[in-house]
Amino acid sequence: MSIAENINKVNQRIVAAAATAQRQPSSIQLLAVSKTFGADAVMEAIKTGQLAFGENYVQEAVEKITTIKAQLPETPVEWHFIGPIQSNKTKPIATHFDWVHSIEREKIAQRLSEQRPDEMAPLNVCIEVNVSGEQSKSGVSPDDVLALAKVINTLPRLTLRGLMAIPAPTNDTTQQHAAFATMRALFDTLQQAGFQIDTLSMGMSADLEVAVQEGATIVRIGSAIFGHRNYQ
Ligand SMILES: *Cc1c(COP(=O)(O)O)cnc(C)c1O
Repeated sequence: MSIAENINKVNQRIVAAAATAQRQPSSIQLLAVSKTFGADAVMEAIKTGQLAFGENYVQEAVEKITTIKAQLPETPVEWHFIGPIQSNKTKPIATHFDWVHSIEREKIAQRLSEQRPDEMAPLNVCIEVNVSGEQSKSGVSPDDVLALAKVINTLPRLTLRGLMAIPAPTNDTTQQHAAFATMRALFDTLQQAGFQIDTLSMGMSADLEVAVQEGATIVRIGSAIFGHRNYQ
């Protein structure tokens, strides 16, 4: 299967899941997670009209973004950083990305705001939530989301867009629903508290249908588009 065929299939899955959930397919954005794949693979995806890409590794991503920008200077490609962030890597993230989904610390948010260049639009960010409560997992606990959201709203060069989660992998759809429903409830709580957010980033290759049923607005799809990864 080609990347183009895979994207087509994933878009069909999104349309079908939206129909089941009685939602508009256009309310769900496909983020193609291109980590570990090269600029050639991204170029192939762009040719199909896919313009939003997710990356996890700063150096790899910056090289790819630079290559794509040089080849397609007029194409409005949107880059989303979705991986863990070390504080010494915030500068290239602030200067090369449009979105960051993986905010879990005040200090990182502050650095990204300070380092966001004036001539660029504010950086769109999501708070990553450790929805399954795994010890080793990244993300803030659901109890700490409101406090971090308040801090982010004071930072001039960031725009808080919503929440992101990577639930513990499971084949049990009941557990999948429960994790995504918890995220949806947190999202509603923030909106009711007055936060103007519009993004629930959840759902990957294996569970996008469940995520869409529970209200995902961005699904992050890697292997179903680009194939098996040789490293995570
Ligand atoms: C790798 C990754 C994905 C994509 O996962 P697939 O199962 O390949 O679709 C999505 N989100 C994050 C944060 C990732 O690191």
